[in-house]
Amino acid sequence: MESGENNSGLDDVHLWPMRYDLHSHSKASDGHYTPAELVALAKKKGVEVLALTDHDTSAGVAEAVATGKSIGMHVVAGIELSCLWHRNQIHIVGLSIDPASPELRDLEKSQAEKRDIRAREIGLRLEKHGFKDAYEKTKAMAAPGASITRGNYSRYLVSVGAGATEESCFSRYLGEGKPAYVEPNWPDMDTIVKTILAAGGIPVLAHPCRYGLKNKWILRLVKDFKSCGGEAIEVTGAVQGSSSEKFILTEIANKHELLCSCGSDFHHEKPSLDLGTDLSIPEAGKPVWKSPKFRLEC
Ligand code: AMP
Ligand code: MN
Ligand code: MN
Ligand code: MN
Repeated sequence: MESGENNSGLDDVHLWPMRYDLHSHSKASDGHYTPAELVALAKKKGVEVLALTDHDTSAGVAEAVATGKSIGMHVVAGIELSCLWHRNQIHIVGLSIDPASPELRDLEKSQAEKRDIRAREIGLRLEKHGFKDAYEKTKAMAAPGASITRGNYSRYLVSVGAGATEESCFSRYLGEGKPAYVEPNWPDMDTIVKTILAAGGIPVLAHPCRYGLKNKWILRLVKDFKSCGGEAIEVTGAVQGSSSEKFILTEIANKHELLCSCGSDFHHEKPSLDLGTDLSIPEAGKPVWKSPKFRLEC
């Protein structure tokens, strides 16, 4: 393969820098749009390659791909899996996964069971604070069988006037140490990375700067992720901590021979977050779409 080529069959130079968005959510988890609506919106906003990466489920991928085929939009099959690393809740995106992989199917099933038990417990705790039928009402806002996260709960709480923003509902109810906080029991990072690899996917460490970790711990996390078999890290997101963040993350990626990914982590429009924002990867980094494993479903 010559440099500049990849499995997508696309030349990735001409339309640089805005076309890849490799992290997004639909109603299959805590996004506000159906997969079909999301793909159409992404196209309208100028995204040309979209990965659907719902929390612990690939259930929305088939609909996203079907829509991509009908409106002429490239779609990558993805997922965002939750794990625990030194008691921190870390997210690993899997890109170009095979949703039919038996290992992935088993993991999705056990994550769904854990999510449902936790969501019911969160609901009970909210009931004690006066939010009657919080679990049922939260579930009704997502797709049937959706993967329910605290993000779903924050949306419900905003809808009933419990807070002006989702962030404020986390500060009052859902964040660590708050009344409706329930500790998750996700698998360890090695299990998650190995499952993505078994499904033919590319394990990507999601938003390394959004776990509230000190620099020393971010570096440890990246090192451990690489030793588990991790292949890429997100260096560019819609919400950057600082203007230098993506350059520092690219240096870290290069040091550990990891590829660089970019994703908005779109759930719904916010003043600070929309689809189609500039997610360009610094020139020093090697984009994840150069991986021979990177594959477009359409
Ligand atoms: P969970 O995996 O159930 O713990 O939920 C994590 C999801 O909650 C994230 O993917 C976000 O969508 C959302 N979330 C987490 N923290 C916040 C916050 N401070 N403000 C708004 N949404 C948040
Ligand atoms: Mn979310
Ligand atoms: Mn995440
Ligand atoms: Mn996400």
